[in-house]
Amino acid sequence: MNDVCNAPGLLPVEQAISNILNSISATTLQETLDIHDCLERILSTDIVSTLNVPAYNNSAMDGYALCIQPDNLVYKQVGAVFAGDTYSDKLSPGQCVRIMTGAALPQGANAVVMQENTSVDNDNITITAQPKINENVRFAGEDIALNQVVLAKGCKLKTTDIGLLASLGIATVSVFKKVKVAVFSTGNELTYPGETLKPGAIFESNRAVLITSLKSLGAEVIDLGIIPDDKALITEAFNTADTQADAVISSGGVSVGEADFTKEVLEQIGRINFWKIAMKPGKPFAFGKLPNSYFFGLPGNPVSATITFKQLVVPALEKLAAQTQIAKKMRFSAKATTRIKKRPGRTDFQRAIAEVSESGELLVTPLAKQGSGVLSSISQANCLIILPAQSASLDANSMVNIEFL
Ligand code: AMP
Ligand code: MG
Repeated sequence: MNDVCNAPGLLPVEQAISNILNSISATTLQETLDIHDCLERILSTDIVSTLNVPAYNNSAMDGYALCIQPDNLVYKQVGAVFAGDTYSDKLSPGQCVRIMTGAALPQGANAVVMQENTSVDNDNITITAQPKINENVRFAGEDIALNQVVLAKGCKLKTTDIGLLASLGIATVSVFKKVKVAVFSTGNELTYPGETLKPGAIFESNRAVLITSLKSLGAEVIDLGIIPDDKALITEAFNTADTQADAVISSGGVSVGEADFTKEVLEQIGRINFWKIAMKPGKPFAFGKLPNSYFFGLPGNPVSATITFKQLVVPALEKLAAQTQIAKKMRFSAKATTRIKKRPGRTDFQRAIAEVSESGELLVTPLAKQGSGVLSSISQANCLIILPAQSASLDANSMVNIEFL
């Protein structure tokens, strides 16, 4: 059988991604927010430390800060210092103060002995062993130094990054505005979940995947619902989407069927490239510019829509959102437990289950059903096996690259 997949004129996946990334300019719109509202937001400026953290040398233990006197194990306690206090006098050799974790080290102190290693007789503190200089001392600037770039512009803030901002005394921060993404699905057969299914109809599922994925990526979603296969209504949907959003994602209608109006409409209102991409599932995909926004046209088949979204659209949206560390998905090498069927020609993204064997080896098993309409396969899978375009079928025990979902 002559497979179209082997036909020339299919665009390699990597080329499609770099094509898309090269066409996209990052947003420049910014806003200032309370740090507590900044989870997963993208920093729009470098954060430079205006102080040393910690700000002063302090104790890492509850115990005694002492000024070491060689060969002496009995120190004279001259005071106490708790977190938040300071001790103003300078210690001389042989003197110590009671100190709590985080409290500023008095001048002259050069080690802290933990309280478990001491015995107390009034103000005579006996230590069990001579400490090393600087033992249990945390130094000023050890965590963050003054003038250090702590977080760079374009960084996506994690919970711990927000803690870091707080530790620098920063209460508000400048971030890029959320990217607005309009989403709709085309097809006369598509029915909203919750409604009654008529003969010949199916429940619409691509928007459910797209909307939730976009929310978890930190985009603001404009849901335009289901649009019937009608040229006027599709035109209206594109115009509405383009006036409201930075990016528009549609699914369905990009192949060459009788009712596939998407292509026709887009060619009238924008500059759109239609590609047949050398990927499986995937293949028909559109990318381009509408007057005010970027456009991504996903295939209608649920698995194809999901995989083209993850592989081609997510990196584009990250760039649009001004994220500089584009999340290049980590790939791992795993051993196939069974034979993997593949024809040369397209990059395959096979749904699979990865597990770690008792001996610690990463194993992977492709799922039996690999059809591009079988959404349950991607729901069951915990990873994708990525097989390069030129690869043919592989025997069991071959090493393959996987990407966790
Ligand atoms: P299309 O790309 O419009 O030719 O659609 C290809 C296949 O995917 C058809 O079987 C459609 O019924 C199905 N399909 C298209 N859009 C969706 C959607 N949003 N949700 C679920 N299935 C869809
Ligand atoms: Mg359709």
